[in-house]
Amino acid sequence: MKFGEWVKTLIFYEILMGMKATLTHLLHYKPITLQYPHEKKPLPPNYRGMLALLRYDDETEKCVGCDLCEAACPSRVIQVYSAEVPGEPTKRYAKEYYMDMTRCLFCGQCVDACPVDALGMTQEFEWAVYDKRNLQLNKQQLLAIGDRAFPVREKRIEFQHPNVAYFNVSFGDIPQKDA
Ligand code: SF4
Ligand code: SF4
Repeated sequence: MKFGEWVKTLIFYEILMGMKATLTHLLHYKPITLQYPHEKKPLPPNYRGMLALLRYDDETEKCVGCDLCEAACPSRVIQVYSAEVPGEPTKRYAKEYYMDMTRCLFCGQCVDACPVDALGMTQEFEWAVYDKRNLQLNKQQLLAIGDRAFPVREKRIEFQHPNVAYFNVSFGDIPQKDA
């Protein structure tokens, strides 16, 4: 054994180095624990929290009852009951819309599938409940979540793209062909 190694063994060098690291941490202690729920960590903008149904800026529901979200969901969370808008046979809407959030994987496939961006994922995650029936949400509940999570709303599609978007616009709004 070399002399240096022999001295290190004699003075318990490794133990002293370990104690130094412990003492350094103790003297320069900075807590990293957050006092949840009083303190909360900022979430990334693309956080996938509770789902919500969205409206346009004139309070109209965005959902057109197309059922694509229901088809895209791998976990059978969504049930859409589609119907014609009364008096406007080319327009449809979700007469009833249900989500069983006990089954949701928060994968976001329903949001991606929606052709009119009627679904959004919020930053809400504190949805622990004692009764899981409280996680079966209806359309009004999902719209209320959207209202509070997305206060800035888009204009209706036909006003965003006046030259091209005739999707789900009532027949009377479509310009007539030239004679
Ligand atoms: S986030 Fe995924 S699992 Fe949840 S409702 Fe949407 S598609 Fe279904
Ligand atoms: S939320 Fe979107 S995909 Fe689902 S039914 Fe409504 S318009 Fe269609």
